Amino acid sequence: MKPCPICGKPASEASRPFCSERCRDVDLNRWLSGSYAIPAAESDEEEENAEGFAAPPEQGSTKR
Ligand SMILES: [Zn+2]
Repeated sequence: MKPCPICGKPASEASRPFCSERCRDVDLNRWLSGSYAIPAAESDEEEENAEGFAAPPEQGSTKR
């Protein structure tokens, strides 16, 4: 049987592949904390339609 991946002690059949439920929780917390550690990409203001708001070039504006 493989040793506990958390502490390296021989795993028990009751909570394998960990040696105890405590180590299983530790592994679970590592998993969760690891996933939560991923920084959420801050979404800047969408600039896809920026061109749509661009002022159109002056056309046919006849000033005298
Ligand atoms: Zn362990």
